Amino acid sequence: MSDQSPSMIPAAEAAEVRRFRERLGLPGLVDVHTHFMPERVLRKVWDYFDGLGPLTGGTEWPIAYREEEEQRVARLREFGVRAFTAMLYPHKPGMARWLNGWAAGFARRTPDCLHTSTLFPEPDVHAYVRQALEAGARVFKAHVQVGAYDPADELLDETWGLLAEAGVPVVIHCGSGPAPGKHTGPEPVGRVLARHPRLRLVVAHMGMTEYEDFLDLAERYEEVRLDTTMAFTDFSERLAPFPRRALPRLAGLADRILLGSDFPNIPYPYVHQLHVLERLDLGDDWLRAVCHDNGARLFGLP
Ligand SMILES: [Zn+2]
Repeated sequence: MSDQSPSMIPAAEAAEVRRFRERLGLPGLVDVHTHFMPERVLRKVWDYFDGLGPLTGGTEWPIAYREEEEQRVARLREFGVRAFTAMLYPHKPGMARWLNGWAAGFARRTPDCLHTSTLFPEPDVHAYVRQALEAGARVFKAHVQVGAYDPADELLDETWGLLAEAGVPVVIHCGSGPAPGKHTGPEPVGRVLARHPRLRLVVAHMGMTEYEDFLDLAERYEEVRLDTTMAFTDFSERLAPFPRRALPRLAGLADRILLGSDFPNIPYPYVHQLHVLERLDLGDDWLRAVCHDNGARLFGLP
C-alpha cells in the first residue's frame, strides 16, 4: 500500500515509523507541531477542512486521524513520539485565556505533551502569557492567518519581549500557505524580529509558501527556527513546491529545523512526513537532528 493512503493499517504504520527510528538509532521523535484542543474546537476545525474552507486553498483535505483524543495520544506513543505539543489558537479576542486553561489541564494529564499556550493581540495578553509562563508553559502557538492579526501589533510588543527573555519558543504560522492572510508573509514577522532579535520563533510549515524569505530570516536571526510541518509532502508539493535550489540552505540550518507534522489534521499517514524528509537526501545526521536532537535540546529533554 502506498504511504499516501489515509487508510494505512495502524499496526503497519507504527511498524514503519519504528523502522525509521531504529535505522537512525533514535530514542524517539520530538514533534513540535501536533494539534490537541478542546473537543468542540477540534470538531470545528475538522468541519472546516471538510467544508474546503479558504485555509485549505479549496483543496480536498480528508483528515487521516479523526479519532478520540485518547486514541490520538496513544497513536503518537506507538509512533515513539517522546515529546509533542498541543497547538491551539484563537480566531478572536477573549478566547486565548480559556484555551490556555484547557492546555494546562491537557499537559497535566499528558506528561509527554509539552505544556503549550497561545496568545492574541488584546489588552490582557501580557498578563495571561505571564501567568502561562509561571504555570510552566514550554511552547506557544501563534496563528497569524487564522487570527488575522499583525504580529507586530503594539499590543503584543511587550509580550514578545517577555517570551524572548524567557527563551520560550513560539511556533508561528506566518507563511501564506496554504492560503494567504492579511498579515502573513515575511514582512510583519520581520518587523517583530527587528525589535526582538532573540525571540525564539519557530516558523511553521518551513514558511510555506514564502520558503526562501523565511530561510533568509532564519539565517539572519540565530534564534529563529523552522518546523517541517507538511512541507515536502506530496500533498504540499502539488500546491506549493519547495524550491530545489534552496535545499543546500536546509543543510546549513541543520541545527534549527524541527520535526513538525500537523497530526492529526493531515490528509495522509504520519509516516509520510518522515519519508519525505528522508527523501531530501540530506543525510542521516541531518535527519537525527531534525527528528529528535534539535527538539530535545530546545526543550531540555533528558
Ligand atoms: Zn498546524
